[in-house]
Amino acid sequence: MSERPTIAVVGSLNVDLTLRCDRLPRPGETVTGRDFTQRPGGKGANQALAAARLGADVRMVGRTGADAYADVALGNLRAAGVDLSLVTQGGPPTGVAMILVEATGENQIAVHPGANAVLDLDGVDIADADAVICQLEIPGGAVAQAARATRGMFCLNAAPALPVPPEALARADVIVVNETEYAALPSTNALIALTLGAAGAVLLKDGGQLARAAAPAVTAVDTVGAGDTFVAAFVVGLLEGRQPGDALRRACVAAALTVTHEGAQTAMPTAAQVDDWTAT
Ligand code: ADP
Repeated sequence: MSERPTIAVVGSLNVDLTLRCDRLPRPGETVTGRDFTQRPGGKGANQALAAARLGADVRMVGRTGADAYADVALGNLRAAGVDLSLVTQGGPPTGVAMILVEATGENQIAVHPGANAVLDLDGVDIADADAVICQLEIPGGAVAQAARATRGMFCLNAAPALPVPPEALARADVIVVNETEYAALPSTNALIALTLGAAGAVLLKDGGQLARAAAPAVTAVDTVGAGDTFVAAFVVGLLEGRQPGDALRRACVAAALTVTHEGAQTAMPTAAQVDDWTAT
């Protein structure tokens, strides 16, 4: 590959506020928590960071509040050299997820989309990007605008399982879904990468299976962010000119490396780490 592929990620920026507790509180009850963390998250930010670590030239299109959480949400992206000039700030507060995790691993999560819910792409030019990646944690109108503005490859990660704007469905070259999201997906002519957790992933087109990739056997520590790494790795692989089946295998390796470490963004591998794994 001579030049780094350019990717615009249009999506969510969040901060995950997490507390561990012995057991989840019942309604009206207070419990004592520990190990408080505040970590950057959001599917958009996660995918932008993963794509940058994997060697793409990435710009993020998103929105945060004008508050202290904006710095937390953007911290890893800034450190990885992601272009943040198309991230707007102000209005509602930065999106947050309040997460309680009990000893059994069971959790309770409430999400405030905040600024993500008022993202629009008015005046934003992403026509020169080799690929645009969107998810469904931002308004459907913004996803449709992104689809219209794309000149290169349009990849839709139809997650979470919400209705897909028809314009985005019609424009999508590539759709990435897990099994729940696949069940909710209307029929499409796009190339579909369907992820199957520890069973890997398959590529589907017009109802037929084009390729299948096993997930490398790893000890799963935390699967949060695996799907986001998969999306980024698959798109980067295609833009690097790999055959779809090869890009699928590489995406499974990158995602497997993510589940071997705690956290989403901190666990995302570099291109060199994926190369090392595939070479062994
Ligand atoms: P999501 O996390 O979005 O629901 P999946 O659970 O299908 O999606 O996981 C996405 C990808 O992450 C899978 O296709 C696989 O490549 C990788 N993955 C997830 N869980 C594991 C695991 N236990 N071992 C290895 N790879 C995994």
